[in-house]
Amino acid sequence: MSESKILVDVRNLKKHFSKGKDIWGRDTEVNKAVDGVSFQIRQGETFGLVGESGSGKSTVGRCLLRLYDYTDGEVLFDGQPLSKLDEKQLKPFRRRIQSIFQDPYSSLNPSLNVLELIGEPMKIHGIHQGEERKEAVAALLERVGLKREHLYRFPHEFSGGQRQRISIARALSVRPEFVVCDEPISALDVSVQAQVVNMLEDLQSEFGLTYLFIAHDLSMVRHISDRIGVMYSGHLVEVAESDELYEHPGHPYTKALLSSILEPDPHAISERIVLKNEGAGDRFNADGCQFRSRCRYATEQCAIEAPELREVSPNHYIACHFAESILSESDK
Ligand code: SF4
Repeated sequence: MSESKILVDVRNLKKHFSKGKDIWGRDTEVNKAVDGVSFQIRQGETFGLVGESGSGKSTVGRCLLRLYDYTDGEVLFDGQPLSKLDEKQLKPFRRRIQSIFQDPYSSLNPSLNVLELIGEPMKIHGIHQGEERKEAVAALLERVGLKREHLYRFPHEFSGGQRQRISIARALSVRPEFVVCDEPISALDVSVQAQVVNMLEDLQSEFGLTYLFIAHDLSMVRHISDRIGVMYSGHLVEVAESDELYEHPGHPYTKALLSSILEPDPHAISERIVLKNEGAGDRFNADGCQFRSRCRYATEQCAIEAPELREVSPNHYIACHFAESILSESDK
């Protein structure tokens, strides 16, 4: 993996939303949904991005898709800074970067049949015409486990899992290089989740895809991700290769997330860590560590000084003043 090129390069990305303005139109309150996030994704890699609701992970995904303009920072795709491109210049990138969202029912136009839904992006980007397009759609449908006879059916005629397969076929119809998968299995039955994850892995090898895989818990992400980033309150608090993150979590928040997963591995963390609720006003705009009111390791230093994401062992980055001692405690 280390030899493949960097396809996605996120540099100090910030996305702030105004929550209120004064009579002069100046922001009185700001939600710092993403506040200085940096990571890279190599070609062919799956980077998992995990955090609870409101952590900023989906906002990062939407910035990468340029569905949001960013407040500051930059996203480079294949070396090109996306913020510098106008809509016309973005068009080829919109083919190369596709998305799969959590709820296929709301992301699929209910008035279009499957042929139109999957054929629409091909039409926009001038890929295939007429009968050739129909054959390409039918082949994609079969590739995602559906049938040619489904071509003229509408989204409401399918189960949730089948609708997500249609969304995946639609995303792949323009032969993208990078796919933002924003909680693609969260709305599906547990029995279907593993099937969809396995299919995404097979498609990755077949089509040479690179994924950003966003999820709210760590249970499914290990299986599909090469590396994982954990987000809390707009910040990346830990980044490591998947196995390293699961076996040696060093940030108290990552440890709490992992402890909430039922683990068949007897060597896994057995103690369930229950997080304290956040105090009012702790999130957004707070000085010091954003996690401190919920952290059992917090000291006075944590209220004054925000921890930087730093490399504590090869390719393992943690944003915590006491990462080394927490890691050694975990290893005992
Ligand atoms: Fe906890 Fe302090 Fe580490 Fe933040 S910096 S995670 S409050 S110990």
